[in-house]
Amino acid sequence: MDQKLQNQVAIITGANSGIGAGVSAAVAAAGSTVVINYPFPALQPAAEAVLKNITSQGGNGIVYCCDVSKEEEVQQMFAAVVRQFGTVDILVNNAGIQEDAPFEEMTLDQWNAVLGINLTGQFLCAREAIREFLRRGIDPAKSKAAGKIICISSVHEVIPWAGHANYASSKGGIMMLMKSMAQEFAPKKIRINSICPGAIQTPINKAAWDTPEALQSLLTLIPYQRIGEPDDIGKAAVWLASDDSDYVTGASLFVDGGMTLYPGFSTNG
Ligand code: NAP
Repeated sequence: MDQKLQNQVAIITGANSGIGAGVSAAVAAAGSTVVINYPFPALQPAAEAVLKNITSQGGNGIVYCCDVSKEEEVQQMFAAVVRQFGTVDILVNNAGIQEDAPFEEMTLDQWNAVLGINLTGQFLCAREAIREFLRRGIDPAKSKAAGKIICISSVHEVIPWAGHANYASSKGGIMMLMKSMAQEFAPKKIRINSICPGAIQTPINKAAWDTPEALQSLLTLIPYQRIGEPDDIGKAAVWLASDDSDYVTGASLFVDGGMTLYPGFSTNG
């Protein structure tokens, strides 16, 4: 891959697993130093394994433990990264969870857990990133932009999802958070976009692909007829982080094999 992100520093949240691990590998292969964030000390070995895979291919990075729903921890993470590397150029707001329940049975704890990580976590990390981008300004040797934020949203920022009201609400919220930030900071040359994955093969949706029957049922929702891989998202993230997308801000990029094309209407509805 071209070194389109050379000499840049990227924080990827929730990167000990799944899409975050794939994005970390792709961003590192494009030349960026990566901060592989993970939420709890027990997950350090998983984060170290992601880093080892990257360094074995010539990439560079560190692992960093921080719960993105905790304001103080997020502030400490950004301060530590700026202390070690001088700045942050790219934030990939990826950490997310599901706590599914029929609506009438959903507890306030389930609601708050999902909104706290998926939406408030993106707010807290984006705010620290923007503060750093504003402090540093543009470094033309690295990028035309003062900074780039990529919010990992979902097709469920537009597709309602029965039994997942907390998750769909968090992703709908990310859409307006992303667009409002993009509008506010475009004049400062800070670009903010979302990637909206469809079904990507990761631990979060294991039940949807780990038996042939489940996979067959899932494929009825995907016109392109394959499940996505973390690298599908990684490649899109590299493009959105690079100057190749310099005129793109406030966009939701659907990387979903056509899941948002209303496949139920493909045979005339
Ligand atoms: P995943 O493998 O479960 O990854 C989620 C990551 O976030 C995990 O590393 C998780 O750690 C971490 N995390 C959870 N709480 C955190 C916290 N408080 N602070 C920091 N990190 C935290 O699932 P994934 O599919 O890669 O999901 C990544 C993102 O993609 C999520 O935002 C998800 O909503 C979105 N997405 C996924 C799909 C899909 O089909 N896979 C589709 C649309 C959107 P643990 O190891 O403890 O879980």
